[in-house]
Amino acid sequence: MQEYLSLVRHKGNLDLFMALELSFLSLARKRPLHLHVEGLRGTGKTSIIRSVKSVLPKIERIKGCKYNCDPQKPHCPLHKDREMVWDTEWIPMPFLEISHSAKVGTVVGTIDLEKLTNERPETALLPGTIAQAHRGIIFIDEINRLADTSPELTDVLLDVMGTKPGRLQIEEAGLPIVTIRVEVTVLAASNPDEEPGPLAEIRRQLADRFDFHVLMSRPDQVEDVLAVLKRQSKRIEKSIFLLDLDELDYEVVLEEDVLRELADLYVQFNLESLRGLEAWRDAVSVWMVRERLFGREFAGAIAAVAPLILQHRLDQRTFNRLMSRLTSQDKDEPPKGTGGESISEWTTVHTPQTVPLVKAEEDSSWWHRFLNPFSWVREVRASKMKAKPLRQLPESAYLWWQREWLS
Ligand SMILES: [Zn+2]
Repeated sequence: MQEYLSLVRHKGNLDLFMALELSFLSLARKRPLHLHVEGLRGTGKTSIIRSVKSVLPKIERIKGCKYNCDPQKPHCPLHKDREMVWDTEWIPMPFLEISHSAKVGTVVGTIDLEKLTNERPETALLPGTIAQAHRGIIFIDEINRLADTSPELTDVLLDVMGTKPGRLQIEEAGLPIVTIRVEVTVLAASNPDEEPGPLAEIRRQLADRFDFHVLMSRPDQVEDVLAVLKRQSKRIEKSIFLLDLDELDYEVVLEEDVLRELADLYVQFNLESLRGLEAWRDAVSVWMVRERLFGREFAGAIAAVAPLILQHRLDQRTFNRLMSRLTSQDKDEPPKGTGGESISEWTTVHTPQTVPLVKAEEDSSWWHRFLNPFSWVREVRASKMKAKPLRQLPESAYLWWQREWLS
């Protein structure tokens, strides 16, 4: 397995790395953000996701508990509601996969009929893959195929991803239904160009359950390809995965202004999915945590995470308009500290930490933006970066990663 920290990073896969870190950070704060990555075969999406396993921290659980009960907050049928001090152990944070041939029973769990006594049936449960991944990650490769061939497993996922934390229902004929709380992050990959097609067309509802959506592409720079060939990449020094788990458990209270801005965008752009809006809010807050963890003041969170949240939820045109609004100049109220240059606010969030963004260049033709709005935004930021000293620039997803990892 290639180790996560040493993988070659390039423009085509940076978003995936970013989304993985944000998603992990959110899991560490006990609020999973699910991630779906789409890309052509051979782009390396599966290898990147699997490499995360090499950097996951350990978690403490009640000794031997297959549900990974948190000693402070036991939730499983055997340990919950029992006031006592448990022996504990440290185990690697779970990273389990669900394959296409998996049966519902092994994924959800079954009841061990031999162990069943007259008491509570839930004590005779045999937890399935999802229950065993509690406080960790579930990975599903080619989720579009799974959605196509296994509607029952899809229903289970809808349930697990439908609320935060998720829930798992175990049903056995003649016995009461047992419901278990599960905090798992679902990571999934698919190739929309292969059978049976994009997930959104097979099971729209499931596609919407993913908070983050990333489109991945191949490297297009010779140097990046060369690095892949030589398997030589500089090991990165800064990553959420290099921090201790308890450092990540960080409280963030979003200011009224930030929430109001999100609400305003929701109404103005008819965003439809409230789930998407909540995911946006959560992503903004983990983004801010991450900035703080790396010793920076927050900047531009709303816009920086917008593509991850909205690309799969909006049509291209609306997405384009919304990104333009987030990156356009606020003429009435020029941002402070900009020396009167032609700049705009990266976001219109008026918090004390807001940092303005260099204004998007006018020379990008509209059809170019229309065809690929996000790459346009990135190109603008990248080209401006060369022209100005870094410290004068705002933080943004691309800039941040480029500075931290690509330079
Ligand atoms: Zn337990």
